[in-house]
Amino acid sequence: MTDQVNIDLHTHSEWSDGALNPAQLIARAKLAGVDRLALTDHDTIDGLESAQAAAGQMGMDLICGVEISALWRAQTIHVLGLWIDPASPQLRANLAAQTVRRQDRMQRMCARLTKLGLPGTALLRAVESLPGVPTRTHLAAALVTQGHAATPAEAFRRYLGQGKPGYRSAEWPPLTEVLDWIRSAGGRACLAHPMRYRVSSGARRQLVTDFVQGGGAALEIVSGNNASQHIDICAELAVKFGLAGSVGSDFHDPKLTWNPLGRLAKLPARVKPVCGDLE
Ligand code: AMP
Ligand code: MN
Ligand code: MN
Ligand code: MN
Repeated sequence: MTDQVNIDLHTHSEWSDGALNPAQLIARAKLAGVDRLALTDHDTIDGLESAQAAAGQMGMDLICGVEISALWRAQTIHVLGLWIDPASPQLRANLAAQTVRRQDRMQRMCARLTKLGLPGTALLRAVESLPGVPTRTHLAAALVTQGHAATPAEAFRRYLGQGKPGYRSAEWPPLTEVLDWIRSAGGRACLAHPMRYRVSSGARRQLVTDFVQGGGAALEIVSGNNASQHIDICAELAVKFGLAGSVGSDFHDPKLTWNPLGRLAKLPARVKPVCGDLE
């Protein structure tokens, strides 16, 4: 029965900015009671092969996914591609271009940190020595390791958060293009954590309108430990726009306690689950 299946459709591994490798992630999810898990690394599907092997061994229902960075009205947004075909040549080529954008942006952020009096070259070298496509999480870790921030949260607060002096945006592709990538790889597009974007509620409705027009399938209704009023707002949006709903922890690291695996709130009954017709 659908409502007894423990589902988590948004997680990260060390192939992007997660702390665990895919086998460790799946073992941990299994222990936490998750039955169906999507691996959705930032802008890469390179972890899916080992995830599939581990899922086969451990009896986990694994969904091939990815979390793609996109631009909507100059705002960075994240779109989950779920049930994508990891062999899709177009998707692979498009994600290779995302990696180049990430590498270029990391160089620009480190150059910026140099201007702020920090050792940008050493920080860049440290990020490049870490596994995974380069993200701000990696740069925050390097700032902590090299003694320039006490915690990753402080590194974001002082330097790397949006609008902070070390922040640089990347040349992400427009939302419509990313929706085409996901469709061409046979996937369903799900707008990740809709309440986390710093936009007005009117702009959020416009984002969802454009997402639907571009072929988006679902909204992430339950995300990490988001507040119940956020779940309600997203559920209203999904019903209003005829979108399905998804649940995902956005798990990165066992040390971060706000979004553990296997503990998500249920999808409100009025929203159609994104995986409902695949049972
Ligand atoms: P990027 O995609 O390179 O811009 O990096 C974004 C990632 O940084 C997110 O997916 C989070 O994992 C992490 N992140 C963003 N803001 C914070 C924050 N304030 N504290 C810790 N991690 C953060
Ligand atoms: Mn992340
Ligand atoms: Mn995200
Ligand atoms: Mn995520």
